[in-house]
Amino acid sequence: MISIKGLSKHFGDLQVLKDINLEVEKGKVIVVIGPSGSGKTTMLRCLNILETPTTGHITIENKQLDFSKKVTKKAVTDFRKLTGMVFQSYNLFPHKTAIENVMEGPITVKKQSKEKARSIAADLLNKVGLGDKIDYYPFQLSGGQQQRVGIARALAMDPEVMLFDEPTSALDPELVGEVLKVIKQLANEGMTMIIVTHEMKFAREVADEVIFMDGGYIVEKGNPQAIFSAPKEARTQQFLQLIQ
Ligand code: ATP
Repeated sequence: MISIKGLSKHFGDLQVLKDINLEVEKGKVIVVIGPSGSGKTTMLRCLNILETPTTGHITIENKQLDFSKKVTKKAVTDFRKLTGMVFQSYNLFPHKTAIENVMEGPITVKKQSKEKARSIAADLLNKVGLGDKIDYYPFQLSGGQQQRVGIARALAMDPEVMLFDEPTSALDPELVGEVLKVIKQLANEGMTMIIVTHEMKFAREVADEVIFMDGGYIVEKGNPQAIFSAPKEARTQQFLQLIQ
């Protein structure tokens, strides 16, 4: 269970997130849509504390951070372990093989033994369809394959929730499907996920709830059928008309 209450984020004078409130039940898939600059990425980065919210609370399972008070470095480090983040631009270590990329976090952060980390990483790479590429370096892999390594790397930390920030937008169109397939598989297995995407067809298929953001606000949320077929808010209607 994830709960976000009264979350705001300023960059200097610019307020990018305005009183965000959101509850996500375990096992649900939330898809976040909205125009460029609406705050989607910043919201995800706040959940992973890659950005420090200006104020508000975030609770994941039984851990809470209250940004109206000073939060300690240790609290942030502990909290970050609850989330796995997949970035648009993969961010793999170029000098490490696929399996070494996946093992890195469990060894350095979770202090897992090399043997255990290797065995889990091999299973995860198998799961994302890369069982035959574990010893390849990123430059030997396609964008879709690198992104699947990125997903395995995030899963290796055994997070409570997976956060995806436009995971397919850097990919050539023919490689998008293989990444979406892996994300759908995770959804079917009951992984809690928050996904920022511009892939509307995918959003319809995978989301339990769709959130439309604009100007730093959550303007509307609902099930995919309601948001895509009968949006209530004028801003949601305008956005969907422009992109569909
Ligand atoms: P896109 O779909 O284009 O990725 P987005 O909805 O994810 O957009 P954000 O990337 O969250 O939007 O950006 C929201 C606003 O915050 C934008 O105006 C952006 O310029 C600003 N912003 C984001 N990061 C920073 C930063 N580190 N410093 C200053 N402003 C920032």
